[in-house]
Amino acid sequence: MEIKNISVIGAGTMGNGIAHVFAQYGFKTTLCDISQEQLEKALANIQKNLDRQLQKGILTEIQKAACLSNLCTNTNLQEAVAQADLVVEAATENEPIKLKIFAEMDLHSPEHTILASNTSSISITRIAAATKRPDKVIGMHFMNPVPVMKLVEIIKGYSTSTETLKQIESCTSKLQKVPILVNDYPGFIANRILMPMINEAIYSLYESVAGVNEIDQVMKLGMAHPMGPLQLADFIGLDVCLAILKELHQGFGNPKYSPCPLLINMVAAKQLGVKSGRGFYDYTSGQKEAQVSSHFIKYSVS
Ligand code: NAD
Repeated sequence: MEIKNISVIGAGTMGNGIAHVFAQYGFKTTLCDISQEQLEKALANIQKNLDRQLQKGILTEIQKAACLSNLCTNTNLQEAVAQADLVVEAATENEPIKLKIFAEMDLHSPEHTILASNTSSISITRIAAATKRPDKVIGMHFMNPVPVMKLVEIIKGYSTSTETLKQIESCTSKLQKVPILVNDYPGFIANRILMPMINEAIYSLYESVAGVNEIDQVMKLGMAHPMGPLQLADFIGLDVCLAILKELHQGFGNPKYSPCPLLINMVAAKQLGVKSGRGFYDYTSGQKEAQVSSHFIKYSVS
């Protein structure tokens, strides 16, 4: 079976990027979210990112138009998955929400449809168990920002078939991305390594070892990271970081993954990073160079 029709569930930070790349590489793509407002924001974001690709000479006007003509949106999940050969779920990182979505996708999509999750840390095996087709459930973990990042971590659940794996590896290559196969354990590889670093950076701020800028500069200038860990956390979304750390903590039962109290407080205060306008940095002014959030200016070393 050739994969032609894609449905992406969830139009947040990741869903718009995933829909963008599938449409860019010729797949008919339906982007679905429970929020119409979120779908409109996602389409505006895709437009902006296509314009950026146009300016950089990555795309032509004709390719941009073709990409947009491959895209449509829907707030009804049942309709969105009815014709899909592959569904990529990119909804909120919350297990009960994902289990409900997978049970619905299983019910309303054709028998041959592969159901993939973009989850950062939740067990693919548990998600698959919410369906009657666990052999066709797989992890397809894109990186942020999706149109730019080359990696897709492919997660093989306990019951994922070799046939499903091969189809998803081939489909990933058609998006000009590199599939890397990993087994299904908490945080897989990317977040098992990344999140403890981000958590440690937040602990360093919490314990006043250094300020926001100093911590990020150490990792940028000293370790050649393109972005510091606190700014990266803002881009990922602090609620997503917290959800992943909780999953690692619970999954391994090891206190080294225990989320920093400062991260817990920031999420409770709805300071979620770029998507809410403020996290460790303030994005509300629209300035290119992000300014440290006023809350953390007092943390600077003097
Ligand atoms: P987000 O909070 O930006 O967006 C989640 C979207 O899901 C929202 O628009 C919400 O309205 C929608 N949603 C919630 N319930 C839904 C439902 N029942 N049906 C349809 N849509 C629903 O989250 P995000 O950062 O885009 O993360 C999405 C997934 O991608 C998560 O599993 C996350 O762990 C994973 N992920 C995130 C990143 C990142 O950098 N943010 C990177 C890789 C993977």
